Amino acid sequence: MKNIFIAILFVFGTLFLSGNLLAQKVLSTKSQAKDKSDVIKQKADVSKETATLSATAGSDAFTGKAEDWFMPAAETIFPALPYSYSALEPVIDKMTVELHYDKHHRGYFNNFKKAIENSKLEKMSLYEIFASISEQSMTVRNNAGGYYNHVLYWSNMSADGGGEPSGILQKHIINSFGSYEAFVKEMTEAAKTRFGSGWAWLAVDLKTKELFITSTANQDNPLMDISDRRGYPILALDVWEHAYYLNYQNKRADYIDNFWKKVNWKDVEARFDAFEKMAGKLK
Ligand code: MN
Repeated sequence: MKNIFIAILFVFGTLFLSGNLLAQKVLSTKSQAKDKSDVIKQKADVSKETATLSATAGSDAFTGKAEDWFMPAAETIFPALPYSYSALEPVIDKMTVELHYDKHHRGYFNNFKKAIENSKLEKMSLYEIFASISEQSMTVRNNAGGYYNHVLYWSNMSADGGGEPSGILQKHIINSFGSYEAFVKEMTEAAKTRFGSGWAWLAVDLKTKELFITSTANQDNPLMDISDRRGYPILALDVWEHAYYLNYQNKRADYIDNFWKKVNWKDVEARFDAFEKMAGKLK
């Protein structure tokens, strides 16, 4: 009887121990798996960081300045915003800048890159694409325009913007429009009367090199071969609702009047100067 009792105890003891070992093994496999997934996650985080860093490093080569757009479309990147999201306040509020840059503008860039993937457009410059836009799809037209136009728009403004243009651009503005005030009035009018979504522009005529004001629908711009008057844009004013609606609601006119307080004339002048040097290369 005693032997049987000891035998039963032995059997249960063995079962208990082996069960325990099994449970430990399962636990340790699980924790190894967790460690492994943590490592993978960490690796992913590191590569994400590297991607952000290399995009920033790339922006040294591509800043969206005039000559940069001769680069093959495949090599262009999404340039960093030249200031913080709140830099344009109170004219343009932080949330509008953040959504406009990080969602709308980035969306056009991503869709543009997707649209040209594995096509001959990858080797063409944005200037060449615009000069042949009538032969491209609406997807390319809208997103190439959306990508390029917003780069201009952001660099055309700055935290300490405003005032008036100087130097040779000032002379040309006075020659073309009579005065700085008359120029602002005309471009303001073009922006306010653009029906629906679109842009107002100060541009240099590709043929005559005269300054002129125009407006375009959707994401079109004066470089496109569908434009009545083809020009090189040096100042871009976005009048899509997404550019102002959070702060100004339906008051587009107020947004346009305030825009002038943030114009970065140094950038506009640099684009005007660059046009002189590269005019012959633009078709
Ligand atoms: Mn926009």
